[in-house]
Amino acid sequence: MSYESKMLERLVMPNRVEVGRALLRTLLRNGGVVKEFGAGQEIVDQLADEFHLNRGQRSATLETIYRKENRLKKTLLWHRLLFRAADLLASEGLVSRPTRTFQLTRRREWMLTEKGFDEALRISDMSTTAKESLPTKSFEVQKIVKRLVETPRPENYQPFDRNRKLVRTVRESALRLRGFRQAVIEIYDFRCAVCGLKINSPDSLYWEVEAAHIVPHGSLGRDDLFNGIALCRFHHWAFDVGWFALGDNYKIQVSSKLSQLPQDFGHVAEYEFLRSLTRNDAGIQLPREREIYPHINSIRWHRQFVFYQ
Ligand SMILES: [Zn+2]
Repeated sequence: MSYESKMLERLVMPNRVEVGRALLRTLLRNGGVVKEFGAGQEIVDQLADEFHLNRGQRSATLETIYRKENRLKKTLLWHRLLFRAADLLASEGLVSRPTRTFQLTRRREWMLTEKGFDEALRISDMSTTAKESLPTKSFEVQKIVKRLVETPRPENYQPFDRNRKLVRTVRESALRLRGFRQAVIEIYDFRCAVCGLKINSPDSLYWEVEAAHIVPHGSLGRDDLFNGIALCRFHHWAFDVGWFALGDNYKIQVSSKLSQLPQDFGHVAEYEFLRSLTRNDAGIQLPREREIYPHINSIRWHRQFVFYQ
């Protein structure tokens, strides 16, 4: 029995499989990612609390002597155990290792895979349909986000994806859609491009803002950044039904129907959702780089076919 195993046994530490399961649930609550395990990290203590570890169990250290460098390295047994549990999850394909995640996101983190996401939902008694609304990252979805963000801006952009219905499986399109949502709300900094509303749920899990298709998904609009815009639920609805559109200069154009709207429509107390758009020549709040602005071809199509002039 190794020195490490003896210590684990002597201190009656939880086993690796149990720790792995707790880790999967923690990943789910933390947006799909956790940093490498180290001192001062909140989740390291949270997990220790979950297992009711006593002070001795939390502070036990493993000592390794590096003879060449004549150096003694101390590692907390608990950190080592967390690492081993995460490593076991990685070998089962449930999480990606920090080195692998780093290649994708430039962050050293353990990240759920789709398989790990499903398993985390299962052991948390949640349905896999929760994937649609949870902003939890997965390695596969992150790959799509990266590709979307790095796609060079096309000159002649076609906002329709005519092949979509033919080639994609249900799972593939669900993944694409999640990648689209995540990429869009991230580049708009989780705010509505029109009113700037930024709010999440009290448990910090869900964002209010939605990723809207400019050419609607139902009209085969593409799931990419050139056909996407982040909007709050109200402005998403108003955009989809044609209350407003964007000009080629990204300024907001409001339907002339607005003047016929009864006085008690479209406002809450003093705030007027639609009429406020007509004031001071408002433009939308765009992402930082021009390269990922919505494409003119998408907003023209929306103006022509959805907007109620
Ligand atoms: Zn809004």
